[in-house]
Amino acid sequence: MPDEEIRPDPVEMNRSMLKNYDMPGKRTVLICPECGGPLWEIRRHNLISFQCHVGHTLSLESFLEEQAEEIELSLWKTLRTLKDRAEIFRQIAAERSQQDDSVAAQQLEMQAENALRRAELLRHALQVGELKPDPESLAPDQTPDLD
Ligand SMILES: [Zn+2]
Repeated sequence: MPDEEIRPDPVEMNRSMLKNYDMPGKRTVLICPECGGPLWEIRRHNLISFQCHVGHTLSLESFLEEQAEEIELSLWKTLRTLKDRAEIFRQIAAERSQQDDSVAAQQLEMQAENALRRAELLRHALQVGELKPDPESLAPDQTPDLD
């Protein structure tokens, strides 16, 4: 076997290097919004921040903001998809109706209604919105109590 030497896969090598890389703080289940890597929680003087392997750093406040934006974006995206879905069901229902297949048409209309009902629930969720956290509650007072 000429030239069949086993070389380490650079990707694997990087992965194990990253695995062994000594990150400060405690690993979380959270994902870095910038690169999708895992986040470590870092606490300094009561302040919580997050950092990933490649060095993206976020304060707790900015992490929560990113998360809120992501939630809103995905809700809008799902709402739009449900409306598209209802439209497709309606179109096919109309075709079935013209072909005198009223049973299929009725079932498809029900599917359309179902998609629209779910879309309305999402619209309601988007209208309710979310309360912004008070920055004070995220970064508690660090001055020692002198009482
Ligand atoms: Zn990152």
